[in-house]
Amino acid sequence: MVNLLENKIEYLKGVGPKRALVLKKELGVETFGDLLNCFPFRHIDKSRIYTVAEIEDESVYYQLVGTVSNLKSYGNPRATRITADFNDESGTIELVWFKGLTWVKTRFAPGKKYVIFGKVSAFNNKFNFVHPDVEDFNPEDFTLGESLQGVYNSSEALKNNGLGSKQLAKLIKNVLLHTGNAIQEVIPKSILVSEQLLPRNEAYFQIHLPSNMNLLKKAHERLRFEEYFFFQLQLLHNKLNREAVIKGHVFSKVGNYFNEFFHTQLPFPLTNAQKRVIREIRIDTGSGKQMNRLLQGDVGSGKTIVALMVMLLALDNGFQAALMAPTEILANQHFASLTEMLKEIPVQIALLTGSTKTSERKIIYNKLTDGGLQIVIGTHALIEDTVIFKRLGLVVIDEQHRFGVAQRARLYDKNTTPPHMLVMTATPIPRTLAMTQYGDLDNSQIDEMPPGRKPVETIHLFHSQRLRMIGFMKKQIALGRQIYVVYPIIKESEKLDLINLQEGYASLLRDFPEPDYRICVVHGQMKSEDKDFEMQRFVKGQAHIMVATTVIEVGVNIPNASVMVIEHADRFGLSQLHQLRGRVGRGADQSFCVLMTDFKLTADGRKRMQTMVSTNDGFKIAEADLQLRGPGDTAGTRQSGLLEFRLGNLAKDEKIIQHIRRIVIELLNKDSKLTLAENQPAKNHFERIYKKNFDWSLIG
Ligand code: ADP
Ligand code: MG
Repeated sequence: MVNLLENKIEYLKGVGPKRALVLKKELGVETFGDLLNCFPFRHIDKSRIYTVAEIEDESVYYQLVGTVSNLKSYGNPRATRITADFNDESGTIELVWFKGLTWVKTRFAPGKKYVIFGKVSAFNNKFNFVHPDVEDFNPEDFTLGESLQGVYNSSEALKNNGLGSKQLAKLIKNVLLHTGNAIQEVIPKSILVSEQLLPRNEAYFQIHLPSNMNLLKKAHERLRFEEYFFFQLQLLHNKLNREAVIKGHVFSKVGNYFNEFFHTQLPFPLTNAQKRVIREIRIDTGSGKQMNRLLQGDVGSGKTIVALMVMLLALDNGFQAALMAPTEILANQHFASLTEMLKEIPVQIALLTGSTKTSERKIIYNKLTDGGLQIVIGTHALIEDTVIFKRLGLVVIDEQHRFGVAQRARLYDKNTTPPHMLVMTATPIPRTLAMTQYGDLDNSQIDEMPPGRKPVETIHLFHSQRLRMIGFMKKQIALGRQIYVVYPIIKESEKLDLINLQEGYASLLRDFPEPDYRICVVHGQMKSEDKDFEMQRFVKGQAHIMVATTVIEVGVNIPNASVMVIEHADRFGLSQLHQLRGRVGRGADQSFCVLMTDFKLTADGRKRMQTMVSTNDGFKIAEADLQLRGPGDTAGTRQSGLLEFRLGNLAKDEKIIQHIRRIVIELLNKDSKLTLAENQPAKNHFERIYKKNFDWSLIG
């Protein structure tokens, strides 16, 4: 049976080929059904018309009907502001516009009635409307039964083709009236009942053409449930599928490499959290399943040694291991510290990055292929097709948030029996993201810092307090400490930012003259030899100050560096600030982080500074980040595009997602292939929306 909802949108009355193209381009709408999934972002309550005299609250949306008079332009020679009086029988209120003034000038005819809608603001002890929504008053809009009207996202291109919010509403109504009956239920009945959800067809009617507020809310809840439900079904199904089908290498024994290191080379006792995580990984890698584990641990919690010990476990079982880092600096540093830690253990280890020389690269390729190399550390260079391992048993990915999901998958494809994957993230992930973005991975957490760490003290200073900062830096240097000074580089204005850095560097040279002081510089546009050279001066303690861009953000470990100065700190996101701060506080000394900003800050910028000053807890910071910026910008999700929910809001829905995840787990526990009759519609829908043919038989 052909489902009417899959009809091409161009055949909808009032659309046609040209508009169909625009709908596809702007909204991704190709079918009738797609159009129904364009949900209104708010509703106008046509059932309630207020009067000017009733206005009393800045937080409420008001809708008024009346006339517009007394238009006045301000500004010379060009108008910059227009005001007008809006009048109904109860009184008059001012309307104000700062933009679209040409439109405003010709919009209103004397004596004609208009509907205006919006929130009021209080100005000089009076209320006014700034940029209210304006419509011609049409009594038919206010007929009973359709008092709540959806307002839809439109765009310039859509409007130019006669598809503003109102026209979209009309098309949607048309689809609902003619094909609404074709909307079939997709959530299993028992869940529908236990969760008290609206039936699906009713939910679609109610979200577009609500009968009342309460039903609108129920419709929203129902459709949001559905959205999360199928998202979790996909994640958990993939996980089940993978576990059932893909056999993992078995690391059955703990051998000499691991034992030797553990008993004679361990530089410090492991924390309980580190021990627990190693145990979790051992169980996983010994089980015959392929491990896919996310290792979360705040900056400085000691993930590297865990990675090293798991790599030794791989070696003990005759496998090779790879460690992939997002930047060359970090790869170099891992290579240096791992070779140091392994100097008494006979392990063949190499570094492979973009700047590895061709001749050397060939040797490494050969040794990876013939098994001569046991551990390789590198950057993206490791995922090139030319890299072929003899027996790759484990891949560790450090600082996952720098890698896209696709890159993760590429390493994963390198062998017929895929290696175990350990994905390490330095920025703790809010629980909602752990359940969505990483919802198909198992989760380990290092929730304990190595002993003796003093929390970093964070101070926020304005640029006008620069002298205070210089004095402070000098005191710290006199105590034998080293200092990072970091500048933001934002892609769009890279050149300008570099000037910032160079000017900053020049002024630091004046404040910290040679030979008493030495300053090194590292930024992304330097050749990698130069970068290394400068880096080494700092590592060896030959430079007191390192001026850098965020290339040092991840992983750099120099315990003697105890002050982090962040210039233009408000231009960084919270997780980046937290990462940067994590570069200090690694030794026994009290460390400091100084956030420098202008006096003028956006509300959001001020909130970020306050958050940084008030907490060192990465999880709290990650949550604050999610609240402030929304999931699209939070660490780890920037490249993925995975987390665009139509109705869901990850910053708010933690409990709901958790609840739905449990429901899906229960469902799959009972019926892993969704073969029961009552689960058929869910299965069909699932396959349709992910446009894939899942082989359910693979699940055992
Ligand atoms: P991250 O989790 O940020 O990658 P690292 O692995 O770089 O952290 O560890 C940070 C610092 O803490 C390193 O100098 C490391 O040697 C040290 N460290 C790690 N574990 C312990 C421990 N159990 N006791 C003492 N120091 C530790
Ligand atoms: Mg690290």
